[in-house]
Amino acid sequence: MAIERVAVIGAGTMGAGIAQVCAQAGWDTRLYDAFPEGLTAGMERIEAFWEKGIARGKTTAEQRDAWRGLLRAEKDMKAALEDVDLVIEAVPEIPDLKQSIFSQLGQWAPEHAVLGTNTSSLSIADIAAATSCPDRVIGMHFFNPVPIMNLLELVQHDTTSESTVTIAQQAGEAMNKTTILVKDVPGFATSRLGVVLGNEAIRMLADGVASAKDIDTAMVLGYKHPMGPLALTDLVGLDVRRDILLNLQRSFNDDAYAPHPLLERLVAEGRLGKKSGKGIYDWSTGQAEETSLE
Ligand code: NAD
Repeated sequence: MAIERVAVIGAGTMGAGIAQVCAQAGWDTRLYDAFPEGLTAGMERIEAFWEKGIARGKTTAEQRDAWRGLLRAEKDMKAALEDVDLVIEAVPEIPDLKQSIFSQLGQWAPEHAVLGTNTSSLSIADIAAATSCPDRVIGMHFFNPVPIMNLLELVQHDTTSESTVTIAQQAGEAMNKTTILVKDVPGFATSRLGVVLGNEAIRMLADGVASAKDIDTAMVLGYKHPMGPLALTDLVGLDVRRDILLNLQRSFNDDAYAPHPLLERLVAEGRLGKKSGKGIYDWSTGQAEETSLE
């Protein structure tokens, strides 16, 4: 099936980026948000991204005009879903909210449409259970910032059909993403490996194996990671990573995933990473500066 029309539900950080790459793929794209200010902010972020691209000579005004012509802000979810081939949901990570959206998608989206969710941690099967068409539901996990990050992690639950997987893979290709296919297990592939590496780095820091900078440099220079696991934990947010670890520990019933006590302590102290100015590093200068963990 060739995709022609797409709806993106939720115009926040991820939804706006997803709608942008959908328009850039040449699809008639409708961006819906339940809140007018959310919709306006999302559309403004897309415009700003394109403007920057023009200023840097990466795109042209003609190209931007063509993409802009394909993108529509939509305040009515039912209207956004009319005749679409693909829906990608990117509302906040709240199970009840995702389920209520999917229950509506199941009723309002065309019968052939693939229904993707950008959840980063919830069970795809649980979300799909809110619909009468779980075979058409798949995880489509994009990364931030969506127009720049190359990966699209597709998550297939037990009854996601093969044709749904194929359409999602083709959609990923059209959006210039490399897709990977992962089973519907907690943490999928990306979050699970990412948080385990970060947690182990924090354990090493607490054990005095090396300084934060040296642990990060070990992975940057020794393993060619673009960023060390401690700096990355600060960028993602210590609270976000702690919550993912707790979810893995609970789901697998395995204390190997337990957040390290230092991580718990920093979260309790409000040291959440770059967003709060301080986490494992001090970010007050805009750069990662080594700081006391006492
Ligand atoms: P966000 O808070 O930036 O955006 C959510 C948007 O959804 C807001 O604009 C909000 O107004 C809108 N919204 C709320 N309720 C709605 C409803 N009932 N119907 C339609 N829109 C509604 O959140 P985000 O960071 O874009 O995250 C969205 C999803 O993407 C989450 O599931 C998150 O786990 C996942 N995710 C986030 C990242 C990230 O780095 N931010 C990365 C990968 C996946």
